[in-house]
Amino acid sequence: MPQRGVPAMSLKSFIDVSPDSHFPIQNLPFGIFQPRGGKPRAGVAIGDLIADLSVLEELGHFRSPEFQGQKVFSEDSLNALLAIGRPAWRKARAVLQRLLSSETPILRDNARLRARVFHAQKSVTMKLPARIGNYTDFYSSYHHAHNVGTMLRGPENALMPNWKWLPVAYHGRASSVVVSGTDVLRPSGQTKAPDAGAPIFGATKSLDYELEMAFLVGPGNSLGEPVPIERATDHIFGLVLMNDWSARDIQAWEYQPLGPFLAKNFCTSISPWIVTLEALEPFRKPLPPQDPAPLPYLRAKNDFTFDIQLEAQLQTSSMNAPHVITRTNFQNLYWSMAQQLVHHTVSGCNLEPGDLLASGTISGASEESRACMLELTWRGANPLKLSNGETRKWLEDGDRLTITGWCQGDDYRVGFGEVSGRILRAV
Ligand code: CA
Repeated sequence: MPQRGVPAMSLKSFIDVSPDSHFPIQNLPFGIFQPRGGKPRAGVAIGDLIADLSVLEELGHFRSPEFQGQKVFSEDSLNALLAIGRPAWRKARAVLQRLLSSETPILRDNARLRARVFHAQKSVTMKLPARIGNYTDFYSSYHHAHNVGTMLRGPENALMPNWKWLPVAYHGRASSVVVSGTDVLRPSGQTKAPDAGAPIFGATKSLDYELEMAFLVGPGNSLGEPVPIERATDHIFGLVLMNDWSARDIQAWEYQPLGPFLAKNFCTSISPWIVTLEALEPFRKPLPPQDPAPLPYLRAKNDFTFDIQLEAQLQTSSMNAPHVITRTNFQNLYWSMAQQLVHHTVSGCNLEPGDLLASGTISGASEESRACMLELTWRGANPLKLSNGETRKWLEDGDRLTITGWCQGDDYRVGFGEVSGRILRAV
């Protein structure tokens, strides 16, 4: 697991960072950005700025043995960094915390160098942080699975018999994973009303969001060599926010017997900054006990989760400010990331650097923690009342859905920024 470094409280950057910023020196999330007129390259967020890691790499700050002679920050994806493993990740974090510290003069006292290294976040375009070869979506919130199961089968049979024995998932579509800010086209497909004799073709009438988080795989495993649970976190680089856009009417008609297909493959949005396990370490919590005890291959001594506060906000085209519709927490997940990763490989399936493994909708026990419209409106039966008097059963054209999340420290936040997308009419 990540080691504790310098106590978080004692760290301070020479760059001004407000207490509610998501990106203090304690965070340092990695992403890929493109400055105007320049090529995409790696950066870390600090306050409202980005430090250009390709410049710092060129200056020789990442030459220690952990980097194995590789240049990992000048590419248009973080895959080389992901593949290299935790010793290099820890070293990069330590180097950056030192360079950005108020105690270190190298950048602090050199205006010309600062001008080369720093970009305003608002002046650049964020790209997908990795080339995502494979994307898998789990279904790991008990309350989400229970609510959806109750709608489909009634409360007595809400959970399928396998749910508490294995982290249920489906293999998703990697090619349509997009970065925050990308517009979402309302998909068309087949739908069939329960009382209709035949399906019709047309734009979905029940477009939904799913508030999720996802982790990016670091070093992969070889085909035929499952990852043991004690080694699981060696393969996890960090987390992003995710919106698994879903078309519920298409899903209802197509999903049996093989699960989601076109209802989920038209767009999946992620936030651009990957927050590392090292940055999340102060917010680590023990995984709550599981009953029944999972099979031995899924049982870890010190399995963990994180205290991450999560929100979904809806802004319709006639609203001036977003309206919070979901408040939840990453701790609402029943299965851990380690269990998800280990279960994924137990067949011998090989994970690769940059693979995206998502949590599933993170609903909790309370009504306000329901993390998709399907649950919030109980399949459209109880429309949401918004602050400006509008109502919503599902998302409409022009609506913007934004997910944000952060860990609250004593006087700082380790945040994820946001993942945001606006619905456009089908073409
Ligand atoms: Ca999902």
